[in-house]
Amino acid sequence: MLLFKNTADIEKYISIQRNNKQTIGFVPTMGALHHGHLSLIRASNAENDLTVCSIFVNPTQFDNSKDLEKYPRTLSNDILLLTEAGCDMIFAPTVTEVYPKGLKTAVKIDLGHIGSTMEGAFRQGHFEGMMEVVHRLLNIVNPHNLYMGQKDFQQQAIVGHMIKTLGLETNLVTCPIIREEDGLAMSSRNVRLTPSIRENATILHKSLCFVKDKLEQLEVDVLKETALEMLTIDNFKPEYFEIVDGYTLKKVDQIKDHHYIVACTAVWAGEVRLIDNMILKKELRD
Ligand code: AMP
Repeated sequence: MLLFKNTADIEKYISIQRNNKQTIGFVPTMGALHHGHLSLIRASNAENDLTVCSIFVNPTQFDNSKDLEKYPRTLSNDILLLTEAGCDMIFAPTVTEVYPKGLKTAVKIDLGHIGSTMEGAFRQGHFEGMMEVVHRLLNIVNPHNLYMGQKDFQQQAIVGHMIKTLGLETNLVTCPIIREEDGLAMSSRNVRLTPSIRENATILHKSLCFVKDKLEQLEVDVLKETALEMLTIDNFKPEYFEIVDGYTLKKVDQIKDHHYIVACTAVWAGEVRLIDNMILKKELRD
């Protein structure tokens, strides 16, 4: 496995590989890797000749400086895990490699509702920063396929919109959520949960399962209200629980009017903000 720290080197190497007709799969991450990330590496390995994983804690997507400061950084362990998973290249750049002085990296596209709802409403500037880094990394890595997790449902929807709007030549593949045995979605932030909060954090998954289970029996408002009540336990504070159309991210009133429905939630678990979601319904469109 090759480790690149600078942009020019990886650009040159990938350009040679592409000239040799090698297909490139790309998994962008912020490191502190777990089985969720590794499932994306495996998906990429299965569909491409070469897999690149980037490890970069992107400062422009953090709306909260404490969260950025506390974000776990475990590069040597990440390198071991990626080697075992059969990743071919790691790109672990510095901030100045990604954002060199004088280079304009901001992405100026109108996201409309998909950018302003849910995470967009609670994390000012988060999606602008996320698009900026994904766009910049796509420019550097130039992959045929891009692998992202359903765990960050709104993020993958926005990246899909950006790829389409800018006409980028990469194909987005969204991979399922990998969970711990008790249902908690794997996240690099989980290591920051205290033992008792970690134990109760299964409530996110339970609330999503409840809503999926009762989808046909209860009204949407009742489902959301009950889920919010379930999530309001000691040391837990839900920011939102929404049931949205999976294509538009607009709030759903009537289940029967939509082919694709997702429940999304964000909850403060002590000092850690967790997000999770579940696909409630997905029918093929005619
Ligand atoms: P992050 O390092 O948190 O920025 O995540 C990097 C990529 O891994 C994103 O596309 C995430 O959606 C994805 N990811 C994070 N957690 C999981 C998980 N539990 N299951 C599957 N994919 C995940």
